Amino acid sequence: MNNGYEKTRQRMVEEQLIPRGVNDPAVLEAMAAVPRHLFVEEALRPQAYGDFPLPIGEGQTISQPYIVALMTQLLELQPHHRVLEIGTGCGYQAAVLAAMGAQVYTVERIKNLLARARRTFDRLHFFHILSKADDGTEGWPEHAPFDRIIVTASGPRVPEPLVAQLADPGILVIPVGDRDLQALTVVRKEGGEVTSRVAEQVRFVKLLGAHGWQHDS
Ligand code: SAH
Repeated sequence: MNNGYEKTRQRMVEEQLIPRGVNDPAVLEAMAAVPRHLFVEEALRPQAYGDFPLPIGEGQTISQPYIVALMTQLLELQPHHRVLEIGTGCGYQAAVLAAMGAQVYTVERIKNLLARARRTFDRLHFFHILSKADDGTEGWPEHAPFDRIIVTASGPRVPEPLVAQLADPGILVIPVGDRDLQALTVVRKEGGEVTSRVAEQVRFVKLLGAHGWQHDS
């Protein structure tokens, strides 16, 4: 992909990702390839590779590059995996997963954001990303089971439908906690057993919906 900002992207990988322990070569390669600046509005492009989250409209944010890379690494992704993402936002995380060869299904509750993300997918030729506007806490039962599930908004608990739609073996990564602080949680399903562990403390925008927060307050 040749969309400008290659050097800035490489510097992001070397200064923000590798020193903090992102070492999966496939993740680093995808982060160095996907043009993050094209997922944010024009005025914000020069800041797109900074070490912080950015607004994407509708009160939502795209996570800082390190958090995207960390969550992607925690998925232990293989190129053939079917991955469900909840919270498409601007589409950047979905594009990183698709660049790694995954078949991506992504769900976003805000129609405007999804429409914009879809235009960006088309423009960058990510034609194989499937998306819909809906409450992602219900998962996407028609396409289940998923080898991997990633939730990019934080809920009070792990939505039950997502655990049900996770393949065995499977990995689900989701920030869980209260409104101010969340634990990035890795749920594993293997041999019929579901276990979970906490990877890191993080701050995310809210997961709203039937199995998430009820009000955006
Ligand atoms: N992965 C995104 C991050 C977007 S922020 C990116 O790369 O840009 C999280 C997104 O989750 C927001 O767009 C928000 O609208 C969405 N969201 C919150 N609750 C949701 C739900 N129940 N179903 C689907 N999307 C949801």
